[in-house]
Amino acid sequence: MRKPIIAGNWKMNLGRVEEALEFVRQIRSPLYEVENVDRVICPPFTVLAALAEVIQANKIGLGAQNIHWEESGAHTGDISGPMIAALCQYVIIGHSERRAIGGAGESDEAIHKKVQAALNHGLTPIICVGENLTQKEAGETQAFVSGQVRAALTGLDQDQISTCVLAYEPIWAIGTGQAATAVDANSIIGLTIRGTIAETFGESAAQQVRVQYGGSVNVGNIAEYMSMPEIDGALVGGASLKPEFVELVKQASLTS
Ligand code: PEP
Repeated sequence: MRKPIIAGNWKMNLGRVEEALEFVRQIRSPLYEVENVDRVICPPFTVLAALAEVIQANKIGLGAQNIHWEESGAHTGDISGPMIAALCQYVIIGHSERRAIGGAGESDEAIHKKVQAALNHGLTPIICVGENLTQKEAGETQAFVSGQVRAALTGLDQDQISTCVLAYEPIWAIGTGQAATAVDANSIIGLTIRGTIAETFGESAAQQVRVQYGGSVNVGNIAEYMSMPEIDGALVGGASLKPEFVELVKQASLTS
C-alpha cells in the first residue's frame, strides 16, 4: 500500500515571513488532524526557516522548490542539500517552470544530479515530469515522459527509487484550468511512468514509488484523481495558496 501524498507548490508567492506565517497559522491545525495522507508545503526559500519553527514536521512536511547538487561554492542564488536538509524533508526537482526558464532551463542531466544530491542528504525528491502541448498533439507523450523518468533516476538503486516521489505534470495543464482527465493521468502514470521504472529498475521499485498527478488540481476534482489506482496524490499549485487546500487534503484522505 502506498501512502498518498499531497504537496502544495507555492511557487513565488507568500514569500514574506508575515504573510506566510499568517496563512500557515490558518491551515496547520486542520491539516494536523488529517489521517492517511502525507501533506507537504513547499514555500519560497525566504520563509522556510520561519515556517520550520511553527509547524510540526512529523505532521506537515516542509519542502524547498529547488536544490543545487554541489554542497557549497560559487553558485550565486542557489541553495544546497545540507542547507535544505537543515530545514526541510522534501524538495521539488525539475518543475517544468525550472526546466523552461528562458531557454536556459534545467537539463535532464542537471535534474539527475539534483535527485542524487537530495537523496544523499536524506531529502525526499518530488521529481516532476510531463509533456507540453505540442508533444501531446504529436503523440509523443509516452516516449518523452519515459525519457525524463529514465534520465532522472538513472544509476539509483531500487531502495533509493522507492523513496522518491514522482509528479506527472503535463505542462498544458499547469495553471490553465485544463486538467488532464483522471483516466488519462492514471494511464500515463501506470503504463508510462511505472512501466518505465519496472523495465529499467524492476517491478518492486515501480510498485513502491509514489506518483502524483499535478495540473489544475482543486477541491472539486481531487477525489476523482484519488479514486484512480495508479495515482498516489497530487502536486498542487494555485489551490495550495488558499485555505481550500485544507479541504483538498481532507477530500484526498477520504477518497484514498
Ligand atoms: C504546479 O505548479 O506544479 C501546478 C500543478 O500548478 P497548478 O495546480 O496551479 O496547475
